[in-house]
Amino acid sequence: MAEQVRAGTFVVAVDGPSGSGKSTVSRHLATATGARYLDTGAMYRAVTWAVLRAGVDPHDTDGVTKVAADVILTIGTDPATPHVRADGVAVDAEIRGSEVTSAVSAVAAVPAVRELLVAEQRALIAAHAPIVVEGRDIGSVVAPDADLKVYLTASAETRARRRSAETAADVAATAEDLARRDRLDSTRTADPLQQSADAVELDTTALGIDEVVNRLRDLLSARVAG
Ligand code: C5P
Repeated sequence: MAEQVRAGTFVVAVDGPSGSGKSTVSRHLATATGARYLDTGAMYRAVTWAVLRAGVDPHDTDGVTKVAADVILTIGTDPATPHVRADGVAVDAEIRGSEVTSAVSAVAAVPAVRELLVAEQRALIAAHAPIVVEGRDIGSVVAPDADLKVYLTASAETRARRRSAETAADVAATAEDLARRDRLDSTRTADPLQQSADAVELDTTALGIDEVVNRLRDLLSARVAG
């Protein structure tokens, strides 16, 4: 499979709301094409973990900015073993918990946090491409020159079902949390979730992972070869 997409460095930007399938699709696509993988949401979550650990209110812009500037993030880019550390502490489980999930959109809305993380993300992309990068603003802000931009969607019900299967939380409560985060992520002033005009939109509601990954791999092959 990997040999279909050959040319040296490429960048794939995968954006979309929570539960649209970004993580699974991005990891599988990276594996199928021999590329690295960057989960930018994990970076916002790790900063949020550090904010909460420091006892800082996620709405305290100055406090959040200071924590973000001080914390040292280390993020893996191997799609087989995604991991993230904050100040040397492995926070992979903690960043998926409800405390971080509830606070992350407020932290991610702070412009100084975004500036810091976008700069780190660009450096990681430059160092590790070929790479598949997932987030909310990858095609619009982080990597506007990406070789392929994808915007994944899925019905609200499907997204809630997928997330609650991962977290074991109640589907209705998960649907409410997703709606709240979507609203915050789409309406913030700094780099809101948005679909780039040149992104390929794919509704994953009725598609299996392999179907989505195969389509994207074919599109990428055509782009990189062309
Ligand atoms: O993708 P995930 O659900 O892990 O992202 C967690 C949160 O991080 C999002 O709800 C959003 O607030 C923020 N985020 C962002 N920009 C990105 C990736 C994630 O603002 N590129």
